[in-house]
Amino acid sequence: MTALMNRTPHPAARSAPAPARVQAHPNAILAAIGAGAVAVVWLWWRDTTTISTFGDWLTNAGRVTGLLAGYGVVILVALMARIPPLERGIGADKLARWHAKGGRYTVCLIAAHALLITWGYSVLAHTNVVSQTSTLLTSYPDVLMATVGGLLFIAVGVVSARAVRARLRYETWFYLHLYTYVAIALAFSHQFATGAEFIANRPARVLWSALYLAVAAAIVWYRIVVPLRQSLRHPMRVQGVYAEGPGVISIVVSGARLDRLGAESGQFFRWRFLTRDLWWASNPYSLSEAPTSNRLRITVKDLGEHSAALGRLRPGTRVFAEGPYGAMTSARRSRRKVLFIAGGIGITPLRALFESVPGGPGDVTLLYRASNETDVVFRAELAAIAAQRGARLHFLVGRRAQLGHDPLAADVLAANVPDLRGHDVYVCGPDGMTGSVVAALRTAKVPRRHIHHESFEF
Ligand SMILES: Cc1cc2nc3c(=O)[nH]c(=O)nc-3n(C[C@H](O)[C@H](O)[C@H](O)COP(=O)(O)OP(=O)(O)OC[C@H]3O[C@@H](n4cnc5c(N)ncnc54)[C@H](O)[C@@H]3O)c2cc1C
Repeated sequence: MTALMNRTPHPAARSAPAPARVQAHPNAILAAIGAGAVAVVWLWWRDTTTISTFGDWLTNAGRVTGLLAGYGVVILVALMARIPPLERGIGADKLARWHAKGGRYTVCLIAAHALLITWGYSVLAHTNVVSQTSTLLTSYPDVLMATVGGLLFIAVGVVSARAVRARLRYETWFYLHLYTYVAIALAFSHQFATGAEFIANRPARVLWSALYLAVAAAIVWYRIVVPLRQSLRHPMRVQGVYAEGPGVISIVVSGARLDRLGAESGQFFRWRFLTRDLWWASNPYSLSEAPTSNRLRITVKDLGEHSAALGRLRPGTRVFAEGPYGAMTSARRSRRKVLFIAGGIGITPLRALFESVPGGPGDVTLLYRASNETDVVFRAELAAIAAQRGARLHFLVGRRAQLGHDPLAADVLAANVPDLRGHDVYVCGPDGMTGSVVAALRTAKVPRRHIHHESFEF
């Protein structure tokens, strides 16, 4: 027997608007990371007297790259610690992009550090690189362990390269990625055992350790303790699974005092459904309606193993939801008028925002782009919301070739949305569409700070 029913019933009680919460500004965080990197270089500089020979140059380049790598590693982990002000202010997708970019630099720094130090020491000791490598591995404290850690980092970097990652299952890649924690543990001690900047500098050792400990504590707290505590305080179960269209279902999850989770329209949770086949996977899905005190709803398109299996969930299945995450909320808004542009299943967070973002008649517009009529979900719900709040709603259905134009091109948007520049614009859809819509909005002179978007691809 399947638990699938037609169309989700409408919720009873809406929760109160979420209170304002601390949000980190992306530029402030980038500036803080940059300042930390400058401090790290200063740590090397204050400890360096003269650099005269070629060997000195190599060794010092190795020291700086090593210090920056040690700093980079801890920043990379901090970005993924799911620290709420970062998640709310920057957004999980942007944090993941920073992490991926920073990861590439850090892996290069690690490789450069190992090569430069080995080469520099061999030049200073008038020996060859092979015998110097052997000396470093066998005679220098903790260097062997650090080398294994460094190789693990490089291996994780290779696995994360776009071409390799595309061939792996998400979960395989994710679990391999966890080896970075082992790598950090293996590499940590050699920094104090051999790093000239730390050996004679106790305050530097204390600060460096505090940085690593603070990030480790954030990981344990935000990725393990908080979600576990939350699931104990707010146990959730699947209330029903409803068909929305071909290959698209909604799952309604019920629980008590869910408003205390502080979720807002536009946000997502990482969902773990505790069945025999699914308990090990945790996938992100956005709320597809404004959260209430006793119910959350997600809407899922069948795109792979996990999303397809969700259609077979039974009412009563226990749910472990980690979140809320995501920065694409009404807190981003600074204008009275709001335009939502959704593509395909990207409608889910925008459907919730369309329903709940504050605004009077004529303030809110939703453009919903889909290739085919069958890809459109929530048609009746969206029409009801539009009628109830006096919002504008346009379905832009059909392939570009059929329509004879791109309905999301700059001139078309400017012609169809009066005072386009005066709007905050929220965009969610396939990455290709989001990229071209953002470019079109920029062409139409919508300021970048008024364009808010979220990617479904981490
Ligand atoms: C912030 C966010 C919100 C999302 N909201 C929705 C939504 O409301 N409705 C909807 O249908 N889809 C949503 N998605 C996409 C959805 O998470 C993926 O389609 C789904 O996880 C695919 O899993 P799969 O096993 O079915 O497919 P697979 O074939 O295993 O995966 C397809 C792709 O999905 C991504 N993916 C898979 N597992 C994960 C994971 N655990 N974490 C992050 N990415 C993963 C990877 O890029 C992968 O290449 C959202 C994604 C993100 C990042």
